[in-house]
Amino acid sequence: MVTFLSGGTGTPKLLDGAAAAFSPDDTTVIANTGDDVELGGLIVCPDLDTLLFQGAGILDRESWWGIGGDTERTNSALDDLASAFDLETGPHFLDDELQTEGRPLAAWRRFSGVAEFMTIGDRDRAFHITRTSLLDQGQSLSEVTQTFADGFDLSVDLLPMSDDPVASLIHTPMGKMHFQEYWVAHGAEPEIEQVEFRGASSAEPAPGVLDALEDDVVIGPSNPVTSIGPMLSIQGIGQKLQEATVVAVSPFVGDELFSGPAGKLMEAVGGEASTAGLETAYPFADAFVLDEDDATEFEQPVVRTDTEMNDPEDSARVARAAAEALEEAKTLEEAP
Ligand code: GDP
Repeated sequence: MVTFLSGGTGTPKLLDGAAAAFSPDDTTVIANTGDDVELGGLIVCPDLDTLLFQGAGILDRESWWGIGGDTERTNSALDDLASAFDLETGPHFLDDELQTEGRPLAAWRRFSGVAEFMTIGDRDRAFHITRTSLLDQGQSLSEVTQTFADGFDLSVDLLPMSDDPVASLIHTPMGKMHFQEYWVAHGAEPEIEQVEFRGASSAEPAPGVLDALEDDVVIGPSNPVTSIGPMLSIQGIGQKLQEATVVAVSPFVGDELFSGPAGKLMEAVGGEASTAGLETAYPFADAFVLDEDDATEFEQPVVRTDTEMNDPEDSARVARAAAEALEEAKTLEEAP
């Protein structure tokens, strides 16, 4: 039995080939929800959706976001309407007093839908409307996720990290902004003063999460701060990771990232922007999978392979390396 902790790009890539080393029937994937937003009244869960669309075989694999071949007619119409009516464009995070109104799950992640700043495809939007409606009928995010996973006949168990709102907020000299505004609208340019997971102190792990962390754990090559960090900020999860056998796959080769803003975020939280920084980000890790060109040394077992994943064969190679690293860590744990 194995549990993967996932964001929306690096770990989903690894999951493309994970079945080569881990039976899907025995696999649970816990998804980050710190990136989620309420946009124009719809709850959008980017990491859960990537995993759902991947499992359904409909993911847009160019962007690792949305549905392949989707149209964007409503998104364009929203832009046209804002121009025609001379409305403010760009991300409009609602005022503080409005952030905690309405749906509890939307707290501190509520954006106006005027000139929709994230490009939501038309078919993609149908899932957000369905999800939001089921939430409004009283279902939890876990329940809705299960409905979608069943509908897509997903081969693995997929869980959100929490049914409570945890919002990844980036504090910058321009003010605080949700991670999606920082990344999608500002291209991770603003200086980071602080990273905050608002709501984490009162959020509970979703049903099944703590049980799943009784299994071996693979932390895929996801952003340690904004994809894995929100999970670690929830009470109980860190303790379980201390007790489990955990392998972390580096999203870096030395100090080079494959994509995204993880380096800047790691520095901002006082860490090193490199594979070496995983020591601080994941103090509970029992083993690591690093690229063969990555010279970083750890006290824990390290398995090296080519960690660049462009197709399922690449992913299978990295998954087998993760399984090997788990075995090496267990051998050490069992040694007298
Ligand atoms: P997000 O939710 O879209 O931010 O995605 P994740 O947090 O799941 O993944 C982002 C991380 O994936 C980045 O730090 C990348 O360096 C890493 N990544 C992307 N492609 C690859 C790859 O082919 N191999 C490895 N090892 N890491 C990758």
